[in-house]
Amino acid sequence: MNAQLQTPSACPIAPPSTQEPLIGKSLEELRSLVKDMGEPAFRADQLHQWLYVHCVRNFDDMSNLKKSFRDKLAETHQVGSLSIAEKQVSQDGTTKYLFRLPDGKVVESVLMYFEERGTYALCLSTQVGCAVNCGFCATGKLGFMRNLSVAEIVEQYVYAQADSGKEVRNIVFMGQGEPMLNYDTVLQAIHILNKSAEVGMRHITISTSGIVPRIYDLAKEDMQLTLAISLHAPDNATREAIMPLNKKWPLEELMPALHHYVSTTGKRLTIEYILLAGVNDQPGHAHDLGKLLQGLKCNVNLIPYNPIGDAYGYKRPSGNAIHRFKDIVTAYGKKVTVRVERGVDIAAACGQLANKVQPV
Ligand code: SAH
Ligand code: SF4
Repeated sequence: MNAQLQTPSACPIAPPSTQEPLIGKSLEELRSLVKDMGEPAFRADQLHQWLYVHCVRNFDDMSNLKKSFRDKLAETHQVGSLSIAEKQVSQDGTTKYLFRLPDGKVVESVLMYFEERGTYALCLSTQVGCAVNCGFCATGKLGFMRNLSVAEIVEQYVYAQADSGKEVRNIVFMGQGEPMLNYDTVLQAIHILNKSAEVGMRHITISTSGIVPRIYDLAKEDMQLTLAISLHAPDNATREAIMPLNKKWPLEELMPALHHYVSTTGKRLTIEYILLAGVNDQPGHAHDLGKLLQGLKCNVNLIPYNPIGDAYGYKRPSGNAIHRFKDIVTAYGKKVTVRVERGVDIAAACGQLANKVQPV
């Protein structure tokens, strides 16, 4: 099967409007809305079910709500505010959604199927573009445009679940943007995804490039989610060359924050390490990484570089170099996995998300 591109007309969507979206609201917020409209409280529970259990996209489908209530709601609200600008299905079954936001900007979400576990995971975006500007990342090349709202983050999940008809029980915040630079909004979205959409906290992962103060903040939240750190280099010189943010938060600040996080939460971290041929993939880097991580409760996930264009000069290491790196770090007592790329043929793999469709 070849990669497939679906046009927006194939997708059951309402046109964007400026009315406030209901998706993204908690049960408490829906209760207060319903109360203000003079309706009984149980209407909020019904509405909540339609939004987060049945994932319907328009008021007409909310069949147990009386027509007068639906009409009144529709005067001031819409169900959701995203529409699908483009949908691509990869040869490996990965689906990339390009969502159009109410202001015409676009962001991507990626739905992946993991055969060995029989589960689906959705990779969500938290910002349009990203200010962190890592040298190997297509989103970084866009620059920062704006933060997403709680509604826009939650709706990526609700929409992808409704459109795919799949039960998506795992969420990774590894799409466009740096979640820790939209911190309060991302935490509120996680709260809704957990309480309303019933995605288990243990099935949610936030990935960060290392915004040190927010790692201390997250440690206080007492949440059972997984924190993944994009470390990518075992020394400041190598890290700074590929991640400019290392100037602001070098390893001597990042590493104590990680130890603090583990000792406060008891949770095991995931350390992400992109492998760039000749840049950070040599045996010396692997030994330095093994030493740097000694005493830190973590697993290591190696991410062979996904190409974003020859102009940037990075290359994916050979299979041998990847396995050599893995074996060395494993010898330091770490569990090391190599991330399997998903949807490379539709530019849906890690770091490849860059909004090929321009805003209208
Ligand atoms: N901003 C967050 C989350 C989004 S990026 C972060 O940086 O952690 C998700 C993961 O993809 C990060 O580990 C990131 O470093 C990695 N990544 C970025 N560009 C990549 C590329 N071209 N190939 C492989 N992984 C990449
Ligand atoms: Fe931003 Fe993450 Fe890409 Fe870096 S890797 S530019 S932090 S999205």
